[in-house]
Amino acid sequence: MAESWRDSALRMKGGVIGLARLSAPRGTADIMPQEARRWQELERVARQVFEAYGYGEVRTPIFEYTELFQRGIGEATDVVDKEMYTFRDRADRSLTLRPEGTAGVVRAYLEHRLDGAAQPAKLYYLGPMFRYERPQAGRARQFHQLGAECIGTSDPAADVEMIGMLAGLLRRLGLDGFEVRLNSIGCPRCRPAYVARLREAVASVVEQLCPSCRERYHRSPLRLLDCKRESCQRLTAGVPVLLDALCDECHGHFRQVRQHLDDLEIEYRLWPRLVRGLDYYTKTVFELISPDLGAQDALGGGGRYDGLVETLGGPPTPGVGFAAGMERILLALAKSRPQETASGIDAFVAHHGAEGRRAAVRIAARLRDAGLRVEIDYLNRSLRAQMKQADRQRARAVVIVGEDEAAREAARVRDMETGREQEVPESNLLHVLAQGGN
Ligand code: AMP
Repeated sequence: MAESWRDSALRMKGGVIGLARLSAPRGTADIMPQEARRWQELERVARQVFEAYGYGEVRTPIFEYTELFQRGIGEATDVVDKEMYTFRDRADRSLTLRPEGTAGVVRAYLEHRLDGAAQPAKLYYLGPMFRYERPQAGRARQFHQLGAECIGTSDPAADVEMIGMLAGLLRRLGLDGFEVRLNSIGCPRCRPAYVARLREAVASVVEQLCPSCRERYHRSPLRLLDCKRESCQRLTAGVPVLLDALCDECHGHFRQVRQHLDDLEIEYRLWPRLVRGLDYYTKTVFELISPDLGAQDALGGGGRYDGLVETLGGPPTPGVGFAAGMERILLALAKSRPQETASGIDAFVAHHGAEGRRAAVRIAARLRDAGLRVEIDYLNRSLRAQMKQADRQRARAVVIVGEDEAAREAARVRDMETGREQEVPESNLLHVLAQGGN
């Protein structure tokens, strides 16, 4: 049996009686009720936007066989190479906490034979992801993404649907001022020749690049382009860019993506050094950047992955998707608009005397069953202290039940805005409160 929280706390203290104070693991965070409201609002709006575009929710496991990510994301990526939470289960299988959503969604698409159903399949998800990264502002080890995948079409309009959907979601939440960065990273037909040219162009300065870039030079040279170090950027400033090396098909596809963006009046900046961290991308890649987030400024990003379904054992199937960081969206929102104060409750049920208390418990339960937000005192406070508590909780009304009211099966209702009070029979309470106090 797993060691209980209490046992482990005792063990940590070397068996000394008394509990060690534990904290959440590094890089994780609790979402406490006040903040959870903002999460719920984000989730609500996201679902609304996804559904408007015809996407259905998919909930995949938070762990998968490790091989899924090795094959899907690519062994040479930072995510697979350095950042995965991988462990063996009791039957010695290698499992990994999902570092991103796309691989699992594509696995589910194949496992549930969506490739045989009407195309494209349009799926969205919301949930936690796990990456062993160095925690800092905007970067956690357990973080949350919302994302969408459109599998089974290579239409450039689908690429633009992704960008439009994410931009629309952010705007609907009240965020603007973000920047859309766009690039095309070609396909297996045009990329190898470009990569060869890139290697050639960088060859003479490899030894001066940072250790990560020296490794990238050999394992995933495209990523040389997005190193954040100024010294590396300077050394690679003059290298050829992929946009000038696209094959006719990729070039034509990209032209149509840009046309659709113009038609939809979605502003964007061409960003020839945008390559994104995962191996599966082809053609269109994009990121939405916030000016309010400091070093970790990407709200979300995505792109086309025409080879991924096949890599995971399915038929050749194009696809496009995006993922956005929910913490980052909330962080940007908090910076761009003042926090709203918490909403209040419909009624606080105050009581005194044993019979008053019994009646109050019953009344609170009935009102809650009817859907009102109701609080009640469980700390034997004085009536005065209960009134204060009602005020703190911003109750619209207080329902007061003492011995006398309980005997008459009634309660006094005080409207907290006007201060007016009236006696109301218990059977009529819901009606009166639903009308707004008095
Ligand atoms: P990616 O596909 O890696 O670009 O991730 C998509 C989005 O998820 C990013 O733009 C971020 O908003 C968010 N994200 C990625 N990694 C982290 C992390 N470690 N902590 C918080 N958010 C993250």
